[in-house]
Amino acid sequence: MPENGSGVPKAVKLDKIDYLAHKITKNNKSFSLLAAAGWLCLLVFSGPVLAETIEILYEQGGSGGFSSSDWPWVVFALLATFLVALWVQRTQYQQRLQDKEEELERSHARLRNAQRIARIGSWTRDFETGETFWSKEALSVLGIDANDEALKHYETLIHQDDIDRVTEVIATAYFQGGNYQCDHRVANRSGQEKYIRLAGQVFLGDGSGPVHETGTVQDITDRKLAELALQRSEERMRSILDAAPYPILILEVAEEYPVLYANRSAYQLFGIDPNISSDELKSREFWSEGLSRSQFIDAVVSENHVFETEMVMKGRSSHTFWASLTGSRLEFGGVESVFISVMDITDRKRIQQELERLATTDPLTGIYNRRSFFESAHKEMRRAVRYSQPFAILMMDIDNFKSVNDNYGHQFGDSVLRRYADIVQSLLREEDLMGRVGGEEFCALLVFSAEQGGYVVAERIRKRWMDEVFELNEQQLSFSVSIGVSTLVDDSESIEDIIERADVGLYTAKRSGRNCVIVHNGEVGPRLTEKNKVK
Ligand code: GH3
Ligand code: MG
Ligand code: MG
Repeated sequence: MPENGSGVPKAVKLDKIDYLAHKITKNNKSFSLLAAAGWLCLLVFSGPVLAETIEILYEQGGSGGFSSSDWPWVVFALLATFLVALWVQRTQYQQRLQDKEEELERSHARLRNAQRIARIGSWTRDFETGETFWSKEALSVLGIDANDEALKHYETLIHQDDIDRVTEVIATAYFQGGNYQCDHRVANRSGQEKYIRLAGQVFLGDGSGPVHETGTVQDITDRKLAELALQRSEERMRSILDAAPYPILILEVAEEYPVLYANRSAYQLFGIDPNISSDELKSREFWSEGLSRSQFIDAVVSENHVFETEMVMKGRSSHTFWASLTGSRLEFGGVESVFISVMDITDRKRIQQELERLATTDPLTGIYNRRSFFESAHKEMRRAVRYSQPFAILMMDIDNFKSVNDNYGHQFGDSVLRRYADIVQSLLREEDLMGRVGGEEFCALLVFSAEQGGYVVAERIRKRWMDEVFELNEQQLSFSVSIGVSTLVDDSESIEDIIERADVGLYTAKRSGRNCVIVHNGEVGPRLTEKNKVK
């Protein structure tokens, strides 16, 4: 315990009277003699003086009155009393001092104990004298005794492979001053390898060289071995995952879902730069939309088993592809994560989409086939009824088409059908539907169109088709079309009812000489307007 110049321990602060008593009674021997004399005088002379005093107070005017010759005795008795009181105070002070010292000793012992349990030892080094003080705990951490020669040359304790690194850290601290910390191995006298955390603080003098250094050594062997074991098991896991033939990602379940790991196949699939830093990899985006990523991870986390789905992901050069994702929860490196295996299913998806397209479209014209046109028309009708919007149906049939085939061949007939589909589509809006519902029969659904609107479009189609000229064997050919039009009359009717009415209109148009448009919406029968008459 360091002490200041007055001899009063710095750590012990008593009150002023105690301190005064301590000052006055510093010389133990002479004070004891003085105190003994005080006690004796008090015993011998205080009796008569007290008796006199009592007499003065209670027996007024008595014969034994207090005379001036009694004063020295009174003063002497008071002095003796003072000395005795001082002695009592001093004794109490010494007792308290002792208590404080014992308390300090106990807290020292506790500190030593804590250091022993935490396996931390302290040391200080004075550069002027070249001496280093090692605490008992420090020696025990290093596994050496106080006389060990290695204490004079700490570097002899450091593992050969760590010595350069430690020397560099310490040399920098000696140059710059301040704190340093580095972990290294030591081989103690029993040959057992230990991991030590060496921490120090360097104080520089005026000449900027180090003058004083203080620090700790901590035995971190258990922690380090556990870390190494975890690291090895992670490395083993990584090497297994790297060998996997399919791409794997491991994402932490945290804000922004940092990427903790990607295997080799994932690097190839996503075009990740092999030299990417772990920080860059963490923030790498693999999904075409952030929302689909969080939806997927939320689903995996809430699912107890494996969760599978198909999503669009972002591959090399930001090009998107369809991926089948399988995710499950995993603890990776001690953090809650999601293990994701990725399969590029773009080809499969393309085939699937192609099959769907083939199943829904007419191979000759590329427009909806009969079945998918009716399906789409059903949906559109439900929507129109819900929002009270009108729509029109156009049933179209190319006139005398059989003779086209007969006269110019089936192949030419096909090209006529294709051209017709193209022309009608060019005259419709994007939201309108069109399908090939028979050999040379086409049906269109015009959204937001009432009777007049349907008629106008039908008429436009009819005229445009009539104007279309086909060149064949130096001949110029053109054809006509008949069209029946109907619209939604009553919310309770079905799409088939409406199409049926358009069909009746078409039939009437054929019977009326072809190349005309007939609107048929009522019970009374189809109307043949002036304009619609055969030209
Ligand atoms: P109408 O004016 O009354 O409609 O007479 P039409 O000759 O057009 O009617 P019909 O139903 O008698 O003939 C339809 C013809 O369409 C018969 C068939 O050879 C032809 N056809 C049907 N599908 C195809 C096809 O895919 N390609 C070709 N080239 N012709 C087809
Ligand atoms: Mg026909
Ligand atoms: Mg026909």
